[in-house]
Amino acid sequence: MSFRKTLQLNNGKTIPQIGLGTWLSGPHEVENAVVWAVEAGYRHLDCAYVYGNQDEVGAALKRVVPSVVQREELFIHFETLERRASSLGTPYLDLYLIHWPIPFVPGRGLLPERADKPGHVEIDTETSLVDTWKAMLALRSTGKVRALGVSNFTVQHLEAIIKATGERPAVNQIEAHPLLPQDGLVEYCKREGIHLTAYSPLGNNLHGKTKLVDYPEVKEVADRLGATTAQVLVAWGVYRGYSVIPKSVQRDRIVSNFEQIALSKEDYEKISDIGKNNHVRFGTPMSFAPK
Ligand code: NAP
Repeated sequence: MSFRKTLQLNNGKTIPQIGLGTWLSGPHEVENAVVWAVEAGYRHLDCAYVYGNQDEVGAALKRVVPSVVQREELFIHFETLERRASSLGTPYLDLYLIHWPIPFVPGRGLLPERADKPGHVEIDTETSLVDTWKAMLALRSTGKVRALGVSNFTVQHLEAIIKATGERPAVNQIEAHPLLPQDGLVEYCKREGIHLTAYSPLGNNLHGKTKLVDYPEVKEVADRLGATTAQVLVAWGVYRGYSVIPKSVQRDRIVSNFEQIALSKEDYEKISDIGKNNHVRFGTPMSFAPK
């Protein structure tokens, strides 16, 4: 069973420690994935407009709210507010994030391409991150968002928006796993009271490299504990005190990823050693299309 632990945010709200990721959960996959997850006990869902599957997530929510859970029991993040009501069918978001610290030119769709450089996104060089953060802060009075956060922000990005507004994000969602521990950023956020959510906790990679779930070090610990390698990687993130959002569209994995195990200090360190002098970042926008 999951420990069902919740963690405190700096706005007084709480966030369930284990959530379900929905990136790359394709059509006819994500609706069932969300339903199975909620049935298995997940109460924290990570969604994003750019994942293009919000209608199916919304359909899944209709299947489980209120028959399995009340809306208030769920913690939902999303990265587009305007469409949340029509697509997700929820009157408010628990967390609203700036997805990446890079603005694209407005009014030309999700991924506006550069006329002079096809295949590349056109960056908005007029709008600063501080402008965006101020616009986010102004949404608090609407009652449509319970908490505001950011994603893929570095220490420098965080320092800049905090210095300009005096307002800390409740959450920074970042790629974090044994191959990318981001110790400095984790330490900074802890010190500043900014909750961290780790994405790609299983070391999802689209680069054809060995998956973390297949690393012999992870397998050795998993076999010894009678656990799956994914459970070991989720537990590695939990050990570090933040929330973790593994994605799966397979029912057995959705269920088992949520069945928590605890790591000893020795096993935590053994898994951490994988990333010593071997850092790998999988989520690099320069490898997306358009770049
Ligand atoms: P992940 O959760 O680390 O890994 C997902 C991959 O692992 C999928 O291929 C999944 O396949 C597989 N998997 C799941 N459970 C498994 C198990 N028990 N054993 C073996 N393989 C397993 O990667 P992620 O999707 O990149 O990250 C998680 C979530 O974080 C995303 O879905 C998204 O919600 C969020 N995210 C946010 C950002 C951001 O910029 N803010 C960026 C990336 C991701 P199956 O589905 O076939 O099981």
